[in-house]
Amino acid sequence: MSGQTIKYLLQERDIPTHWINLLPDLPGEPLPPLHPGTLQPVGPDDLAVIFPMSLIAQEVSPEAEIEIPESVREAYKLWRPTPLHRARRFERELDTPAHIYYKYEGTSPAGSHKPNTAVAQAYENAQAGIRRLATETGAGQWGSALAFACSLFGLECEVFMVGSSYDQKPYRRSMMHTWGATVHRSPSELTNAGRANGSHPTGSLGIAISEAVEVAAQREDTNYSLGSVLNHVCLHQTVIGQEAIAQMAMAEEQPDVVIGCVGGGSNFAGLAFPFVRNVLRGGARMRFLAAEPTACPTLTRGAYRYDFGDTAGLTPLMPMYTLGHDFVPPPVHAGGLRYHGDAPMLCGLVRAGVIEARAYAQNDAFAAAVKFARCEGLIPGPEPSHAILAAIEEAEAAREAGEARVILFGLSGHGHFDLSAYDAFLAGGLEDPEFSEADMQAALARLPEVPAIA
Ligand SMILES: *Cc1c(COP(=O)(O)O)cnc(C)c1O
Repeated sequence: MSGQTIKYLLQERDIPTHWINLLPDLPGEPLPPLHPGTLQPVGPDDLAVIFPMSLIAQEVSPEAEIEIPESVREAYKLWRPTPLHRARRFERELDTPAHIYYKYEGTSPAGSHKPNTAVAQAYENAQAGIRRLATETGAGQWGSALAFACSLFGLECEVFMVGSSYDQKPYRRSMMHTWGATVHRSPSELTNAGRANGSHPTGSLGIAISEAVEVAAQREDTNYSLGSVLNHVCLHQTVIGQEAIAQMAMAEEQPDVVIGCVGGGSNFAGLAFPFVRNVLRGGARMRFLAAEPTACPTLTRGAYRYDFGDTAGLTPLMPMYTLGHDFVPPPVHAGGLRYHGDAPMLCGLVRAGVIEARAYAQNDAFAAAVKFARCEGLIPGPEPSHAILAAIEEAEAAREAGEARVILFGLSGHGHFDLSAYDAFLAGGLEDPEFSEADMQAALARLPEVPAIA
């Protein structure tokens, strides 16, 4: 057996003790979220209707590091630390001098990075005396992560699941039921937002968010929980990047480029932000690359504007790249990447030129995933397949430049519940819906009337 290491493994005692908060390190003045009614910056009281104060404090915290509660670290032990792999077989297949590493989050109970924040949010809500969490889910990963987390802390969980995924992914529903959650197909008949969107039977994340927020706002014992986009969600995910930094040090390498897929931005932020902080503080130089679908090209085609987080316009207005809050993306299989906006922190860094973005068609992403699976064994989720394709492009660029560049990408989850999509791809039956210029113009015309960002 060769002495070559494939997996870089940490111990339970190496689980980070703090989350990294990038807010105080961001370039420029932060733009506050605005109240949807008054258009004034939202205060903690506005958010307290649907979030516990401890998470609101994290959302706006000026502290560079926030301690992880002991109970959350205990829960993390169920699957963390996660492995970092060197993709040696994939490197050989690509015939590249690049060294390719991937941080694998598919070892969590729900099969993705999402439990990193689900566990933290369930814990804080339980501490605040909340009995029930309402949420939306796209591909089903977030709903299953929150269902799992609620089961750990004795909370009820009510999930509004995007219609197209509800139909395509019955086994995600089974997981949520197993962990004790209730699941509704969105748009549902249970809420005003659901009833108003009956003309979009495939649903969207934006519609499902509106439904869950509505339920949470109406009930005293119920809060809302969001699986991406918000600052505190990106914060919780930074355990990924901190572990990756320690694991890259074990490999005695530094990434030249860090790559992740972006739906709302949380797995990307989680992996990249600890590295980004080192770069912003002048301690390192590297590139960051965000991969998104051409069917929902938020970072590459969207407008940088204040927009709502949901379709109904119930959430605060956030500064972000957006395709318009009522944009309903075509039902591509990377359901977790079908969101009209992205995390404001991530968008700000794209705007500042710290992070690059590229968009990929779903057939190309699946082809990359299959190539990867035939080398490394793991069958990736459709979402991180976009990151794999970006890694292939970077590996090819390294070959052309004749440089042994170091590539690190996030493998945010496995694809075991997406095998019908693999079947469709292998049978040649996947479409590549394009986001047209007419779609963009129509979406921009419907953006809320707020001052453009200078
Ligand atoms: C939800 C999900 C995504 C997209 O969400 P982000 O907040 O952008 O990370 C990506 N990969 C997997 C496996 C997911 O479950």
